[in-house]
Amino acid sequence: MPRILIIGAGGQIGSELTNTLRKLHGQENVIASDIGYHNTYIVNSGIFEIVDAQDYDSIKTCIDKHQIDTVYLMAAMLSATGEKFPMKAWDLNINSLFHVLNLAKDGIIKQIFWPSSIAVFGPTTPVLNTPQHTVAEPTTVYGITKQVGERWCEYYHNKYGVDVRSLRYPGIISWKTMPGGGTTDYAVEIYHKAVIGKRYECFLSENTKLPMMFMDDAIEATVKLMQASSEAVKIRSSYNLAAISFTPKDISEAIQKHIPDFKITYKPDSRQEIANSWPQSIDDSSARMDWNWSHNFDVDKMTEEMITQLRNKYKDSTTTN
Ligand code: NAD
Repeated sequence: MPRILIIGAGGQIGSELTNTLRKLHGQENVIASDIGYHNTYIVNSGIFEIVDAQDYDSIKTCIDKHQIDTVYLMAAMLSATGEKFPMKAWDLNINSLFHVLNLAKDGIIKQIFWPSSIAVFGPTTPVLNTPQHTVAEPTTVYGITKQVGERWCEYYHNKYGVDVRSLRYPGIISWKTMPGGGTTDYAVEIYHKAVIGKRYECFLSENTKLPMMFMDDAIEATVKLMQASSEAVKIRSSYNLAAISFTPKDISEAIQKHIPDFKITYKPDSRQEIANSWPQSIDDSSARMDWNWSHNFDVDKMTEEMITQLRNKYKDSTTTN
């Protein structure tokens, strides 16, 4: 069994990854960590440590204490927040990656998962079916950190044999934990508003098409990539990963099939500019070929699941309150 540390386990993806990895590898083999105690479910549902991803000693102490051999580095500052605090985004996203890469280079850990993003691409990238290898001139600080991070991952693999694996996640949609300051957050917020019977004012324009994915697919891809044989993982920068692409208008129409009264209005803000610089759809044939990736959720299946789960969640919170 691997001995796993998840850094940033209290976040949108880290929290669901923690659950899945605990089911897969045993509760005692998966240590959740974060900079704070904000995700009480994660804090209370297994072993939890405070770890600061920017502090090498903080990570190393936890690794030594729990005899960790595998690290999932999920802590990062996301695209929209990164534009407000560019230097903080750079420091967090890059320093944390170097700490973990160096721990692997020094033989202290054996395997790393580090997520990249479709934000590595920029306005000069082909927007449709964006290839694995293409022009990537990101215009956000977040995208720059992901692009630089990818280069370092590949470098550490080629130069020092570090087993680092990575996916360029699209926008991730989930119902358990709220998203953490990205440009695709609207696609989660919209479901919450719809289920509680409110109108949604969208911060992107109605025809802004972006690549997206339901959380269950993102977690499955992550687990699959980490379980693949070393020879199968041919790309050591980061794999393109895709499932669905849609606009705010598409998603509101999918919601209206279940909630006919749902209304959406549009008031684009600074996040529109970020969205305009990203691809609309992604070619992930390398992932599909190298380690048999395939997605499960289309827009309708995801919408049904989101609405069912959120209705239960809001019902439970009304009964407990
Ligand atoms: P999130 O913002 O929801 O969670 C990040 C977590 O990291 C938070 O719990 C936060 O407290 C923690 N954190 C922040 N600073 C820390 C520090 N110094 N030390 C330890 N923990 C710290 O992010 P997410 O959406 O779960 O994203 C996880 C990863 O996936 C990130 O690398 C992100 O760039 C990438 N990604 C996410 C999406 C998406 O749609 N959510 C899309 C593409 C890529």
